[in-house]
Amino acid sequence: MGGENSMRVMKFGGTSVGSGAAISQTASILAAAYREGRPVIGVVSAMAGITNLLLETATAAACGDGSASSQLYSALLDRHLSAIDHVIRDPGRRETTTATIRELVERCVRLVESVHVLGDLSPRGTDWIVSFGERMSVVILAGALAEQGIAAEPVNADRVIVTDEVFGSAEPLLDKTRDMAQATLGPLLDRGVLPIMTGFFGATEAGVTTTLGRGGSDYSAAILANVLRADEVWIWTDVDGVMTADPRLVPGARTLPAVSFAEATELAYFGAKVIHSPTMRPAAELGIPIWIKNTFHPEHPGTRIGPEPGENGSVKAITAIPGLSVITVEGSGFLGVAGATARVFSVLGRASINVFMISQASSQHSLSFVVRGSDGPKVIRLLSAEFEFDILRERVLRIAEDP
Ligand code: ADP
Ligand code: ASP
Ligand code: MG
Repeated sequence: MGGENSMRVMKFGGTSVGSGAAISQTASILAAAYREGRPVIGVVSAMAGITNLLLETATAAACGDGSASSQLYSALLDRHLSAIDHVIRDPGRRETTTATIRELVERCVRLVESVHVLGDLSPRGTDWIVSFGERMSVVILAGALAEQGIAAEPVNADRVIVTDEVFGSAEPLLDKTRDMAQATLGPLLDRGVLPIMTGFFGATEAGVTTTLGRGGSDYSAAILANVLRADEVWIWTDVDGVMTADPRLVPGARTLPAVSFAEATELAYFGAKVIHSPTMRPAAELGIPIWIKNTFHPEHPGTRIGPEPGENGSVKAITAIPGLSVITVEGSGFLGVAGATARVFSVLGRASINVFMISQASSQHSLSFVVRGSDGPKVIRLLSAEFEFDILRERVLRIAEDP
């Protein structure tokens, strides 16, 4: 594939394609990068709010809401057609783009109607339905680039990213993805076309749509960069990079000019939504730097995430994950006993409860760990059942949740 060594993958998040005006701005950034003459691949999220809307509507339909699909139909058409109105002037292109969006909206709404008929929404069905957000946004962005005289083509990632079958948080199979990416994107790049690929989803080897987890379009970009040996990933978003805190919560937050892959992974894992935490893995494996840049303030240098450690100093940023609970298990005759801690965590593991942090008092009389607040009552129930006899014998004195 020509020019592999200087390829850039540029990913644009939901706000960067959230309206006609935002799509124009994104198209200008991509057009300028393309005109530099190095190969570029765009990776795009759904318009801001669309993934949530699809998830909420599909859930409502499964719960018996008979009007969910018709409301979805008008909301999807409304958002996407008004973006087309803003960015596409050429009458022929406007007509074809509109027809493609209508067709996608109709397919998506038919799926939601079948969820309503079945009264059931499987993880597999959910992934298929939510993938339509990205399937629609790429069509409009490619149209906006065509308006600027650029040969851009929308590409669905189920022809590129091959994953395992874990619906809702699938992991890529990199070797198979490399073959598919070369077969699908190679001919486009060779012809000088700018591919605009859907973020967020891929497909199993059998071609069934899977998603990479919420916020997963960042991951799509890094996976693509890995398999095509790109030299940079640029994540375009709505803030000036990775900051010392979430600027929505802390107005004085400042941009960190450079952080390491390990630091970025940790910040993301502990709540810095600006980058999806698995994203660093495929990039770090090959030392591909990731730039975080602001679509609406492109002159700001942003943050470089790379192999090198960032600035000196141990505290880089403060992150927060809302809605967590601390669970404490206490009991003097219990926690020193080998295997007790293992029992606690195997119960949680079997129930797929995500544990964010663990601490054990050195006296070993108490063990505390952090889980999602919504998992709290379930954790208490499971542990109370597991340790029923230990509670009766007073080896365990307390299993409690502190919000
Ligand atoms: P996109 O749709 O572009 O992927 P996201 O909403 O997923 O954007 O991520 C960007 C948001 O991340 C910002 O608007 C900001 O509120 C939030 N954020 C949380 N923590 C941080 C942080 N430490 N630095 C920058 N942004 C942060
Ligand atoms: N559209 C998807 C989401 O909202 C993926 C992404 O935006 O990264 O989770
Ligand atoms: Mg995001």
